[in-house]
Amino acid sequence: MKHCIDTKDLNRDEFLSLIKLAEEIIEQPKNYAKVCEGRQLATLFYEPSTRTRLSFTSAMLALGGTVLGFSDEQSSSVAKGESLADTSKIVSGYADIIAMRHHKEGAALVAALNSTIPVINAGDGSHAHPTQTLTDLLAIHLELGRLDNLTIGLCGDLKYGRTVHSLIKAMAQFDKIHFVLIASKNLVLPEYMIQELEANPKLTYSFAESLEEAISSLDVLYMTRVQKERFDTEAEYERCRGHFILDKKVMSLAKENMRVLHPLPRLEEISAELDADPRMAYFRQAHNGKYIRMALICYLLGLVKLNDTEEQNLTKHYKEISSFCCRNKNCISKVEVLPHLVQGEEPHLACAYCEKGA
Ligand SMILES: [Zn+2]
Repeated sequence: MKHCIDTKDLNRDEFLSLIKLAEEIIEQPKNYAKVCEGRQLATLFYEPSTRTRLSFTSAMLALGGTVLGFSDEQSSSVAKGESLADTSKIVSGYADIIAMRHHKEGAALVAALNSTIPVINAGDGSHAHPTQTLTDLLAIHLELGRLDNLTIGLCGDLKYGRTVHSLIKAMAQFDKIHFVLIASKNLVLPEYMIQELEANPKLTYSFAESLEEAISSLDVLYMTRVQKERFDTEAEYERCRGHFILDKKVMSLAKENMRVLHPLPRLEEISAELDADPRMAYFRQAHNGKYIRMALICYLLGLVKLNDTEEQNLTKHYKEISSFCCRNKNCISKVEVLPHLVQGEEPHLACAYCEKGA
């Protein structure tokens, strides 16, 4: 059995096979309309995210399956104090596959360790959201026909932006990727992500101070929204927000076949006047999220076989060290009684759930 907890659970061949399958589904949806007949998806959303939940629901219905679940913590048995581990065991008896969203980091791993059916992480705190990354990869492949040999601009909130970090990790599996990092100084890419870039010889990167400076070299511009609450002062926010706005003037400097992606929702960083420009791919990107989720559901349920898939052993990278205590207050281990699982080696041990060091 296979789960999808993090993009690192998938290798290059699996990424490419899932994308190929999603593209087949887009071409011939009728061929897949009954693939999941008699199967049930449980959407366990401990944190509301209407867009992601609807995308999973619509994916399962389009495969001929059914959906049950809850859309916030209050309407679930968690309100009565049931543990995540117990909920996962019980839901395994009702459903065939789980899509879980949780505000605590590592929650999806806890579910996977306790369920007897596949678990898809639909977002665990600021830790991982692999189906968003798969959606991004599908969008790039559909728009440009390749995932190698790309110059990708990352713009906006590179510090807290979970989607940016996941995209970098996933692109590490492809060849000749150059990232241009475009962010204000208080939202730059964290040091541990820079180390990740440094550690991979297939990835290169450079910095740019403005969109104008970077845009002509890009194949893909991945925009993210800058959240006001990330800034110390209102003045600092006001100064930064004007810096990274994509409008007609900036786009006039971009290549004819460049594509702009955004995980949405957007604020003001992309001017609405650009929406009709065919290079703006973010609405197509969001729409296609449904198809990559369809492909992933088929794959995890064992209904389609992909090339070169790896056997997954969830616990093989972890060991239990009872003295280890995770210090991340947003970690699932802070609210549930769990085995003290760690990954890595001394002195770089990290919590297996949230992947943060002690
Ligand atoms: Zn932790």
